[in-house]
Amino acid sequence: MPGSPTALDELRAALSDWYAANRRDLPWRRTSDPYAILVSEVMLQQTQVARVVPRFEAWLERWPTVASLAAAPRGAVLGAWVGLGYNARALRLHAACALVAREGWPTTVAGLGALPGVGPYTAAAVASFAFGEAVAAVDVNVARVAARLGAGTPQELLPAGAAADFNQAMMELGATTCRARSAACADCPLEAWCASAGRVEVPARAPSGAGRPRFEETNRWVRGRIVAALAAGDELPREIPPERLAPALDELVREGQVTRHRRGLSLG
Ligand code: SF4
Repeated sequence: MPGSPTALDELRAALSDWYAANRRDLPWRRTSDPYAILVSEVMLQQTQVARVVPRFEAWLERWPTVASLAAAPRGAVLGAWVGLGYNARALRLHAACALVAREGWPTTVAGLGALPGVGPYTAAAVASFAFGEAVAAVDVNVARVAARLGAGTPQELLPAGAAADFNQAMMELGATTCRARSAACADCPLEAWCASAGRVEVPARAPSGAGRPRFEETNRWVRGRIVAALAAGDELPREIPPERLAPALDELVREGQVTRHRRGLSLG
């Protein structure tokens, strides 16, 4: 930890000032609506910010409230998720909103963490951004910044009464300045307190794609093509050989993403 409570306060103030001056204007940062924040966090779990922004805005326009999403057919929800990948996220988000529409919002980390598809990080993010709970939201970026700082855990660094801004600032620093593969210490507001300043060793990058199949060779790609075709009202893609198509389709049916009818297939 920094040497004294005063130093810790100075660190927090430096981070807060830096965030105020450098924060990216992202749509989910303009709201404290738990539904909008949950949607953004689920989308951001495995999709990059730039791709999420337009999809988030379109989603909120189509389903502006938790009740509207809860009432939507599963097939429509899956169709609107096409292109974001990892479709199971959409079904879990839908299930979480159905539960909230029936029972109301849990307002604590523990309650939020019991919702379908909401893990510890997402629960903490919603609890702090929407409900003001004094809890650190620790994603990989925040964990990395705290580890490099060597100045305490994110929860120990958290200022009283300003959890939401602190969490956003730590995430922003990890996403833009103290990155996994580069640390711009000279531009960092925490340099004066950081145990790793100027000494970050970036691990060597594995040769790109080495040993990994191309995306088009993966089962994920086949599943994505099936869902996209059904969402568009098209037939199943004919260029995919049946020995790849059939098992992927069986999986989607088992997971509840696709339903078989006598006259064909549908999403949800
Ligand atoms: S000084 Fe460097 S290593 Fe430390 S938090 Fe800032 S960017 Fe990361």
